[in-house]
Amino acid sequence: MITTLLVANRGEIACRVMRTAKALGLKTVAVHSAIDRAARHVREADLAVDLGGAKPAESYLLVDKLIAAARASGAQAIHPGYGFLSENAGFARAVEDAGLIFLGPPASAIEAMGSKSAAKALMEEAGVPLVPGYHGEAQDLATFRAAAERIGYPVLLKAAAGGGGKGMKVVEREADLAEALASAQREAQAAFGDARMLIEKYLLKPRHVEIQVFADRHGNCLYLNERDCSIQRRHQKVVEEAPAPGLSPELRRAMGEAAVKAAQAIGYVGAGTVEFLLDERGDFYFMEMNTRLQVEHPVTEAITGLDLVAWQIRVARGEPLPITQEQVPLHGHAIEVRLYAEDPDNDFLPATGTLELYREPAPGPGRRVDSGVSEGDLVSPFYDPMLGKLIAWGETREEARQRLLAMLDETLVGGVKTNLAFLRRVLAHPAFASAELDTGFISRHQAVLLPLPGQLPEAFWQAAADAFIQSEASMCRADDPHSPWSARNGWRAGLGAETELHLVCNGSERKVRPSGRNQLQGENLVCPRQEGDTQVQYRLPAIRRGTTLYLEWQGELQAVSRFDPIAAVEASHGHQGGLTAPMSGSIVRVLVEAGQRVEAGTALVVVEAMKMEHSIRAPQAGVVKALFCAEGEQVSEGTTLVELEEA
Ligand code: ADP
Repeated sequence: MITTLLVANRGEIACRVMRTAKALGLKTVAVHSAIDRAARHVREADLAVDLGGAKPAESYLLVDKLIAAARASGAQAIHPGYGFLSENAGFARAVEDAGLIFLGPPASAIEAMGSKSAAKALMEEAGVPLVPGYHGEAQDLATFRAAAERIGYPVLLKAAAGGGGKGMKVVEREADLAEALASAQREAQAAFGDARMLIEKYLLKPRHVEIQVFADRHGNCLYLNERDCSIQRRHQKVVEEAPAPGLSPELRRAMGEAAVKAAQAIGYVGAGTVEFLLDERGDFYFMEMNTRLQVEHPVTEAITGLDLVAWQIRVARGEPLPITQEQVPLHGHAIEVRLYAEDPDNDFLPATGTLELYREPAPGPGRRVDSGVSEGDLVSPFYDPMLGKLIAWGETREEARQRLLAMLDETLVGGVKTNLAFLRRVLAHPAFASAELDTGFISRHQAVLLPLPGQLPEAFWQAAADAFIQSEASMCRADDPHSPWSARNGWRAGLGAETELHLVCNGSERKVRPSGRNQLQGENLVCPRQEGDTQVQYRLPAIRRGTTLYLEWQGELQAVSRFDPIAAVEASHGHQGGLTAPMSGSIVRVLVEAGQRVEAGTALVVVEAMKMEHSIRAPQAGVVKALFCAEGEQVSEGTTLVELEEA
């Protein structure tokens, strides 16, 4: 009997799992860290248990505390979500040893797929095709060099224990192999406590196509179609869709059957995903199996009409799968985008801060939003920076794409950098519209997808000034209905026409005289514009939060505030011309000395953050004038690390 379910996770996946649990009449238990006390997943649960510290190791990863929480709350089952302990065989075993139900596969299946190397060996035996490479025990440089020589460059180094793109490096030529191997091993050791590597041929222009499998305890195993997850940055998915465009029914069956074979080879139970690379000739190669529910499972749900979390619960109760392979539906097309707190202009590094403004698209047919945050929430550096997912379904791919674009247009996030505008450019790109998908998509279309930030035009500053002054007036009105500001005469309230506003936006500043031409109506700025002989009125979202006005301009939300002379002085005291830490983290390597000459592109310092290494490289040839950091030191985002002098 399962009547109460504990979700050992946070954020959108915790909310998503609880939604189905509630629909099935189960009581839900959330767990949380110290800083997640008021998080959305906690607010949405029937019961909540405090795990303690902020870091995952001091909260969401504490096996004993999770089991104690389940006992104390009367939960009979634990859903691990994804990430955290979801693929930890020790946890699965501990849950079962405690007499509780783990909503995932048996510990032995997690173990079998836990190491990419071991999984590849197993799949080789089961006759599932593999990418050429080496996944053996010996880990010395000479072994990897010989393997790379045999399969040919470029090659890809991967952490055997890997996940999340950590400990993964592309190596173009032999000269770079030693450094890349050392760096990947360090990264893998830091992230997984296991430095073991494997090496693969780095395929050019492959597609990432994965198969959703589901198995019950009675020996039945199905494939629930595929997902195409080729749109990736840093080898991690950002856009996923189902079905994979252009996949023939024969290839779907061949890949589906290979995936089922993989699952059966390890006695799989529950939801799992077998990931393949698909090349241009239609040959596919096993990459790895994820023994859990995936982030992108909603696109499969959208085209099959199934609820995978409900299936997980049914399978855990011992029920057989309710349909046969021939009955698996495939209807329409679905696309998902992952909304991340990250900075696309800075190598997609995670961003942190407070969600001053957070607005999700309205609900509607074919629309789904899976998110785990609300306005005012803090995006901390401790956890995955994904805020949530937007999913659109349509009868056709094009219908789903248009619907998702509309949903992106309605989404507003202020206070934290996100990839929202980037996602919109991906979805709007003609190559995406015509489904020219492969894992090189983002780098190939970089110029369009990641345009250099341009200057904000005069019309923007004018609109910003009008919106700013009017939002100020309406704020005062809201505060005190008897104040002279309450007079409903717009921006003129209490301000002379000659008043100039000194505004700051995106690092530039401008003195602008409000014109009153653009009118704030509620949360929109109505901007008249002459298009030929016709006057057109544009409505731009313009929302005030505290001292900041968020104004959308050409699809991007701009944060406008009044010039603050004190902040400006502080900013100008930074080291000019220095290279700064892209995010808070620790210095793992200092590769140069003061006085050393360097070429453009030379790695100077390696910073580790979120368990990934980032090399700070010389933007041009020069001489290292000064070093402001040492190995082992903690640095915060924006700290100057190295000062370079042009040669
Ligand atoms: P992780 O588990 O760290 O996410 P994966 O093994 O799943 O790593 O690979 C992540 C992504 O890296 C894949 O989706 C694919 O885009 C790319 N990739 C992996 N292996 C190869 C390869 N041999 N050739 C080309 N691209 C690859």
